[in-house]
Amino acid sequence: MAKRPAAPTDGFALAIHGGAGTLRRDAMSAARSALYHAGLGRALAAGHGILAADGSALDAVTAAVVALEDDPLFNAGRGAVFTAAGTQEMDAAIMEGREHRAGAVAGIFGPRNPILAARAVMEHSPHVLLIGEGALALCRAQNLAFADRDYFHTASRWRALQQSFAPGATDDDEARRHGTVGAVARDRRGDLAAATSTGGMTGKLPGRVGDTPIIGAGTYADNASCAVSATGHGEFFIRFGAAYEIAARLRYGGQTLGAAAPAVVDELAAKGGSGGLVAIDHNGAIALPFNCAGMYRGYVEADGTICTAIYDEPYRRS
Ligand code: ASP
Repeated sequence: MAKRPAAPTDGFALAIHGGAGTLRRDAMSAARSALYHAGLGRALAAGHGILAADGSALDAVTAAVVALEDDPLFNAGRGAVFTAAGTQEMDAAIMEGREHRAGAVAGIFGPRNPILAARAVMEHSPHVLLIGEGALALCRAQNLAFADRDYFHTASRWRALQQSFAPGATDDDEARRHGTVGAVARDRRGDLAAATSTGGMTGKLPGRVGDTPIIGAGTYADNASCAVSATGHGEFFIRFGAAYEIAARLRYGGQTLGAAAPAVVDELAAKGGSGGLVAIDHNGAIALPFNCAGMYRGYVEADGTICTAIYDEPYRRS
């Protein structure tokens, strides 16, 4: 596993992921890799700009995830994968660690940025998780932007669905199967936040909900411990309460994030759950562990240097 980056010193910090469903290393060209690094860099710059201007962790993770949702390379928003029925159903969640406010949506199609739909649930409804027509009605009432089928349709995700139907198709191609985007941040006031957004898994049954919008599974934030955004085979992250499990180890077990986050990811692997996560603790230390071939990921150093990586490799600095 790549070396864990050191904690930043100036009080705020940000880490993101673009999903653990990376292209196989042998299928990744230099040109394509550059596009992924650039997409991660744009999202980090968006979030970092907010934190550096004394903005909130909540706004920073929102901005970072919006940037990733707008990028068709990643499985969220515009680049969402297709269900077995050829539809797209998106899940997203956001949480802040001071008051434990949270909002989530599941199985939605239409809002251009599902993370903004999740935030609308948090800020403009008395609920945590909305689905179906009710979720869409709230988005309309809040004047969120909607997009049409053409906007969300990407040829590569459609091809991935067709490939998954091919006779003898195996489930070993992570890029075809899944992906997700997410961000965690700590602002100068010491507040933590997490945001996660996904199209889920290619060929999923219509109606399937993954770990992303399940608070404590794929998304969690608690100022006293840490904020977590996960990616991977969602059923495992739900069954093992992955994000909350890490927070609990910090809060009740006295563990460091650097010990707890990779340990939970390793334990998931032992149960068959591939994936990874980004996490940040109340001091701003970050962890980006994964148990599979790669995870699109990055963080910003205190001086603003953007660090991104895909596989178990040195971070690219820009
Ligand atoms: N965790 C997502 C889900 O299960 C997919 C992924 O991150 O690859 O919906």
